[in-house]
Amino acid sequence: MSYNVQGIPVLNDNYAWLVTCPDGQRVLIDPGSAEECVQSLRDGRLDWILLTHHHADHVGGTDVLRKRYGACVVGAEAPGMPRLDTIIRGGETLDLAGLAVQVLATPGHAIGHVSYVMPQVPALFCGDVLFSAGCGRLLEGTAAELFASIRQFDVLPDETWLCAGHEYTESNVRFARQVEPRNEALEVYEAEVLRLRAEGRPTLPVRLLGERAVNPFLRVKTAEEFSVLRRLKDVS
Ligand code: ZN
Ligand code: FE
Repeated sequence: MSYNVQGIPVLNDNYAWLVTCPDGQRVLIDPGSAEECVQSLRDGRLDWILLTHHHADHVGGTDVLRKRYGACVVGAEAPGMPRLDTIIRGGETLDLAGLAVQVLATPGHAIGHVSYVMPQVPALFCGDVLFSAGCGRLLEGTAAELFASIRQFDVLPDETWLCAGHEYTESNVRFARQVEPRNEALEVYEAEVLRLRAEGRPTLPVRLLGERAVNPFLRVKTAEEFSVLRRLKDVS
């Protein structure tokens, strides 16, 4: 039984994530644009579309894909959300024909932001809440909310794939190195990230194990420290 996770680069620096199950069922997370997703899906099937939040760069391709493939759209209600077939709020466990999906309410970046955990993969789809070596901006929420959202990921196993919504890793690592100049794991990671980006390759997904060693926003202990760090990043 193996699940395949594929990042589809869409728009400038977004990723839509495609999960293919052993039975052929396919789930797409955050299709910010339809065109790139259709190229990856070809004539294949698409069963489900999961949305993390209402921003256009995450939901923009939903209606087109829904019509083309007859996929069922899952998301939380918020202004600007496309038509939803299944409305969630966070706290549910969905059974998508044998694929278990835990829904976590993860406010802080956007109203109604949720994250999806698939323990069978295992993978975390966290939209704009957590990025590699960084975290989301506080557009529609507070630092305390975002901190609490991210802390929910602490219980996830080290081998979980972090599937974030943007390729922001290179600039995040630059900031992280200023914050933790003596972090050797981060120094090694920076070299790896620079090499991948120079080759035009994605840095995502990454395992939570590695991420826990390099992401300053996962390493702070209190909401206050988190808030200070977030503000520092905003002006860096
Ligand atoms: Zn967003
Ligand atoms: Fe975004």
